[in-house]
Amino acid sequence: MGRDISRLHPRLQTAVSRLQDVCREENLPLGIGECFRSVAEQDELYAQGRTKPGAIVTNAPGSSYSSQHQWGIAFDFYKDVSGHAYDDDSFFARVGAFGKGLGLGWGGDWSSIEDRPHLYLPDWGSTPAKLKEQYGTFENFRRTWDDTGTAGSAGGTGSGNISASGSVIVRNGQIHANNFCGAGLAADGIRGSRTRKAGVMALQQAMNLDYRAGLAVDGIWGANSRRALGNHYVRKGEKQYLVTAAEILLMLKNYAVGGVESPGIFGSGLDQAVRLYQGEHGLKADGYAGPDTFLSLIG
Ligand SMILES: [Zn+2]
Repeated sequence: MGRDISRLHPRLQTAVSRLQDVCREENLPLGIGECFRSVAEQDELYAQGRTKPGAIVTNAPGSSYSSQHQWGIAFDFYKDVSGHAYDDDSFFARVGAFGKGLGLGWGGDWSSIEDRPHLYLPDWGSTPAKLKEQYGTFENFRRTWDDTGTAGSAGGTGSGNISASGSVIVRNGQIHANNFCGAGLAADGIRGSRTRKAGVMALQQAMNLDYRAGLAVDGIWGANSRRALGNHYVRKGEKQYLVTAAEILLMLKNYAVGGVESPGIFGSGLDQAVRLYQGEHGLKADGYAGPDTFLSLIG
């Protein structure tokens, strides 16, 4: 079954790679196990202990879409030490805690069937019930992940690129916000209150990923968020998630940035956009995206 991380929700892919970084730093030998599971693969598992030998491992047949793995929002992990993949409780507790610090849900917290090797995007709760209700099939859900790939289109500034259905730049920013922080926006290219809130969520998400700030990614800018931002800044040449947030925030204000990456790479397109934005908003146009610029961008 699939250990292919690229079949996971884009935001979960980001979390996996951040978790791998954290575990490397902490000398935890993290192995990534199963990621996406097809209907047929889920049926195979369901057969185990029923029509096939072995112990029962799941109560969910494939057609029920009841496993988070079938929605691309979960992955399993193990201890990458031969012969000792599952016998170290503290390993699972520590990785589970790091996963939660990155905003994921952990199966070790489940009360019904505890599932310690399991981490997931908790946006839709601890079961796929909401996803089933909202999207019906995985294919419909998968469509909401799609990046149009046009975010990299250079040129255009705050005033340009307005189409009949809102701005193309804002629309792409909304899609990136959905992927990066689960903003759940309609990609309509119109900057309304939900889009504005999504910008705050992107910044909170970035601070959790970069600084392990442990903020609720709720789009509400309060004292904890302000404290986490501190005097942090990013500028040309840097690579971190705060750069991703700067890219998304600028796009949500209709500034083209020359692409969005996760973690973000502060290139010349973003440098130009930051300076332009600063100049047009009474800020010192120095290309440093720091607290003043971020506070302006979320406003
Ligand atoms: Zn699992």
